Amino acid sequence: MTEGARRQKARSHRSQRIDTKNASKLTSVFCNTYSRCLVSDFSHSFMGFATTAIHAGQEPDSATGAVTVPIYQTSTYAQEGLGKNKGYEYARTSNPTRLALERNLAALEGAQFGYAFASGMSAIDATLRLVKGGEHVVVSDNTYGGTFRLFTRILANYGVEFDFVNTSEVSNVESAIKDNTRMVFIETPTNPVMMVTDLSAVSEVAHAAGARVVCDNTFMSPYLQRPLDFGVDIVVHSTTKFLNGHSDGIGGAVLLNNEDDASWIQFVQNSAGAILSPFDSWLVLRGTKTLALRMEQHDRSGRAVAAFLEDHPKVKKIYYPGSPSHKQYELAKRQQKGFGGMVSFDVGSLEAARTVLESVRLCTLAESLGGVETLICHPATMTHASVALETRERLGITDGLVRISVGIEDTDDIIADLDQALTTITSDK
Ligand code: PLP
Repeated sequence: MTEGARRQKARSHRSQRIDTKNASKLTSVFCNTYSRCLVSDFSHSFMGFATTAIHAGQEPDSATGAVTVPIYQTSTYAQEGLGKNKGYEYARTSNPTRLALERNLAALEGAQFGYAFASGMSAIDATLRLVKGGEHVVVSDNTYGGTFRLFTRILANYGVEFDFVNTSEVSNVESAIKDNTRMVFIETPTNPVMMVTDLSAVSEVAHAAGARVVCDNTFMSPYLQRPLDFGVDIVVHSTTKFLNGHSDGIGGAVLLNNEDDASWIQFVQNSAGAILSPFDSWLVLRGTKTLALRMEQHDRSGRAVAAFLEDHPKVKKIYYPGSPSHKQYELAKRQQKGFGGMVSFDVGSLEAARTVLESVRLCTLAESLGGVETLICHPATMTHASVALETRERLGITDGLVRISVGIEDTDDIIADLDQALTTITSDK
């Protein structure tokens, strides 16, 4: 089957969609009629972020009036007759709880379409299904280790070509683009050395070459950064992080506006089946209700922790786009609403890093980020262990690098814990 025919089939496969022209009339029909995510039925354009987070996709349940979207824990749906159903046929294809979340996340990112996946990695994997063998993708060289692993160890086996460049210099993206480039995949700020990529400039360069731009917005969340507003085509998330926010679920999402690409992502979601479960969808919906408040606090404490670390005698270097010493402070201010709670710092050696990581009492030594609790980790041996040593060294992911996801505990307590841990480093370590 040709790609055109396949996409056509995917389009027709899509269940009913909402007519955007009549969108405002549709606010009360939330989950019993429409099985696809188009968010324009919610008139969020004139509402603030927190209001949208609490209400988009979440009309009271039409069957019972339940204010909170129920967990529709079902695998299938009774049909009234052949070809007659309430918009749902089988739960891999569509589920009302997942649909509510897809609409909610799409609204928050300013997208028309949203799809929720079993993990951030499956969301990224589904997005990469937009490119084929023989096509080329330009990627931020300091991307999340799992993304690097997926691209180089799995997708490369199917003939997709990848080039990893420092996308914080737009000229690097320009030089890496080839005739067969179909996608530019960026993370900004990057994990863990917080390089910032200019979303508008990269989008301009990529679009001129006919390539889509995908941004992994996990670190910022839509509260602090909305890449689609800067020309990016597709946003991906690990909802495991700030969106869910409570370190109790794994999930991912793809948010976008292009209808053909959305059809294909939906087709992949249904065909490959890496869907987010109803319960996990519900957890993320609960998380987004407080996203604005949580991100404000992550941002407040992130700035305070970064300022504390910057002045600490045991800290050699800090990586935080909110620090005026950061090379891209001005760019970060321009495209982000805040700087968030992700801070990395270098204490100079593996031994010193080990001392800090094993001396903290409040901060928890763990992978992951974006939860209410402060997590601290060692990227070189944890999140970025799959990145080759020479690449890690080039990127600044040294043995002495420590990354903190600043939680929403009292700021003074987080700082006091880091202070006592840093103090235990002896000067010869
Ligand atoms: N993107 C970023 C920036 C991440 O930090 C992670 C995980 O840490 C992922 C994607 C993958 O998400 P998940 O663990 O939900 O598959």
